[in-house]
Amino acid sequence: MRRPRVLLAATGGTIATAPGGDGVHEVGRRASDLVATVPGLVELAEFECADPVSLPSHALTPEHMCRLAHLVAEADCEGVVITHGTDTLEETAYALAVMLERRVPVVLTGAMRLPGRPGADGPANLLAAVRVAMTPAVAALGPVVVLQDEIHLARYVAKVHTGRVAAFASPGLGPVGSVVEDHVQLQVTSAPSDHLGLPARLHRRVELVWAYAGAGGELLEACRGAAGVVLAGTGGGHVPPAMLEALERLLAAGVPVVVASRTGSGPTLEGSYGGRGSESELRRMGVLAAGTLGPLKARLRLQVALELGLDPGGCFPA
Ligand code: ASP
Repeated sequence: MRRPRVLLAATGGTIATAPGGDGVHEVGRRASDLVATVPGLVELAEFECADPVSLPSHALTPEHMCRLAHLVAEADCEGVVITHGTDTLEETAYALAVMLERRVPVVLTGAMRLPGRPGADGPANLLAAVRVAMTPAVAALGPVVVLQDEIHLARYVAKVHTGRVAAFASPGLGPVGSVVEDHVQLQVTSAPSDHLGLPARLHRRVELVWAYAGAGGELLEACRGAAGVVLAGTGGGHVPPAMLEALERLLAAGVPVVVASRTGSGPTLEGSYGGRGSESELRRMGVLAAGTLGPLKARLRLQVALELGLDPGGCFPA
C-alpha cells in the first residue's frame, strides 16, 4: 500500500534534546533522528525530513515562524508534522494559522520530559502527531497541536503548566479530538478560519504590554516607534486609568492598539462598563478589541496584518 508523504520539520525543543557532557540537555537531534525514536514509524508514512532551525523555543522569533510557514506552503506532501519546543508552541501554531491556507493537515508537537528519562513523552507524541497528520479531515481545522493524544486548535491551545506531561489545554474550549487505539477521533469537522495571508517577512516591532493593578504609562511610552501594540487588559479588556494618557499619545501617533484579555479565556467585552479605562472608553478612543484571542496570539495576528499592509480594524475582533 502507498504510504502518505509527510513533511517532518524539526525546529528544536525538549523533544530534540540530547544529554550534553555536563549533565544538562541541549537541542541537537535532527528530524531524521526523531523518526528513528519511534519503532515502525517509517512503515506508516514516507517522510521528507527538514531542519529549518534547531533552537529551544524561547529563542524562536516571528521570522522563524514566517520561514516555517513558507516551508509548509511550498511542501509537496499530504501532511505536515512540526516538532517544536513547548514554551512557545502555541505562538507558532497560531502564527501558522494566520499565515497558511488550509491545504493539508498541519500538526505541531513537542515533549515535556527529556528523552531518555522514564516515561519520556516525545516518541508517543510524535507517533500521535503523525497519525493526525495522515488524517485528511484535519486540514479543515487549520494547524493543530497534538500532545498526550489530544488534538487542540491553534487559536485556543496554551501551555498551562511548567513541568507536567499534561501541560497543554484549550481553556474555554477543550480538545477537539483525540488519538485512541491508533485511531484519530475528531469531535468537530470544521473551525473558523484565522487566515490573513503569507507575508514575505515577519519582523515589524509589535509590543505586548501587560495591564495590572497600579500600572502607569511608562511601558506604553516605551512603545513609541513600534508598528503596533497589544494590551493584555484586565478582565473583559480594561486598563488602569493611569495608562490612558500614554495610550492616547500612541493612538494619536497612528500606532494601532489592540486590547485582549489577560484572563486566558472568554471574549473581550463590548459595552458592559463605562468610565475611565473601561472597554467602552477604549473603543471610543479607537482601541481595537481582540475578541476571544489571547494577548500572545493577538500580537502575532496584528504583526501579520501590518506586514501584509491590511487595515488592523478589519482584522479585529478576530
Ligand atoms: N525549553 C523547551 C522549549 O520550549 C521546553 C520544551 O520543549 O518542552 O524549547
